[in-house]
Amino acid sequence: MASQISEVKAIVKNAAAEAGFDLAGVAPATDTPELKRFPEWIASGHAGEMKYMEGRDEQGDLKRASLARVAPWARSVVVCAINYNTDNPYSTQVHDPKCGWISRYAWSCNDYHKAVLRRLKQVETALRQAVPAELQVNLTTRSYVDTGPVVERVYAKYAGVGWLGKNTCLIDQKKGSWLFLGVILTSLDLAPDLPAPDRCGTCTRCIDACPTDALIDPYRLDSNKCISYLTIEKRGTIPEDLRSGMGRHIFGCDICQDVCPWNRKAPATATPEFMPRPGLVNPALAWLADMSAEEYREIFRGSPIRRAKRSGLRRNVAIAIGNSGNRALLPTLERLAADEDESVRESATWAKAKLLIPRE
Ligand code: SF4
Ligand code: SF4
Repeated sequence: MASQISEVKAIVKNAAAEAGFDLAGVAPATDTPELKRFPEWIASGHAGEMKYMEGRDEQGDLKRASLARVAPWARSVVVCAINYNTDNPYSTQVHDPKCGWISRYAWSCNDYHKAVLRRLKQVETALRQAVPAELQVNLTTRSYVDTGPVVERVYAKYAGVGWLGKNTCLIDQKKGSWLFLGVILTSLDLAPDLPAPDRCGTCTRCIDACPTDALIDPYRLDSNKCISYLTIEKRGTIPEDLRSGMGRHIFGCDICQDVCPWNRKAPATATPEFMPRPGLVNPALAWLADMSAEEYREIFRGSPIRRAKRSGLRRNVAIAIGNSGNRALLPTLERLAADEDESVRESATWAKAKLLIPRE
């Protein structure tokens, strides 16, 4: 029986490669030191307004802090990772004051959840088919891409897929950190892989480069200060003291990954769904600001950018224009200052004042 189960693991890894995943591994479905620290991170308010992170069970315990609580039947976690990097510059390499920056993972207009889940389901099917008949009766499996009460990157570490860097991202020595993750929980007791060793060493580039000091300690993020959170998850106005640090980021932020030495030679993916939509790499700020509601719906159909909502995107564009130093965009700001949304109007007024500060 044991050898049959070890064959399942090999079949699963082959299926992951065939489905297009770059990396795959198996972690035990146990609680980890990282998850034990999760309640304290939540209690410190570092998740900001992301209430979904604070989902609790009937006893009031945080679901994400313990897999044993939410999936007591799970014995193993299969973690699959797929590279989404494309052959385009990093945000730290472009400095066009007419343009903003969208995070690398959001350049494609295909919903990455669907693209990854479709592949993950192929792996799940292979796993189920590989299980000996006598074990099929009690077999349970569940696949998740961002949607389950599982902190995927923690299990990715224990599955040997990569280490958790000081920037809190999962990093593989060869592929870098531009990775989408998917997990399959299973009741099968598969032999776990070894955790990947931490290769950050004495490096602190990500911490030093973060413009809003969101990496409050190595391996620890305060979402309230993170540009990614501010531009995507935060509703309403953005605290004024953080706006200048946002630079021209209008959806997400890649800086702490762009500066990471392990991304210097990160390979580009061949996955067709992850190719950028024209115009979204370093997009023109005026184009985004003047986009009608119909154009927005059409251009961002299926895109993760929809999460910020149109008003959030326009708010971010207003702040980016304020930070651009580009007075040619003042007429665009005037239009945003008359927007129907209060947070857009307020941000545009702030941005206008910033652009008009006399230059030395
Ligand atoms: S994503 Fe940007 S703001 Fe957030 S921690 Fe990284 S560098 Fe800082
Ligand atoms: S920049 Fe340096 S410290 Fe930060 S994640 Fe990369 S290797 Fe680790």
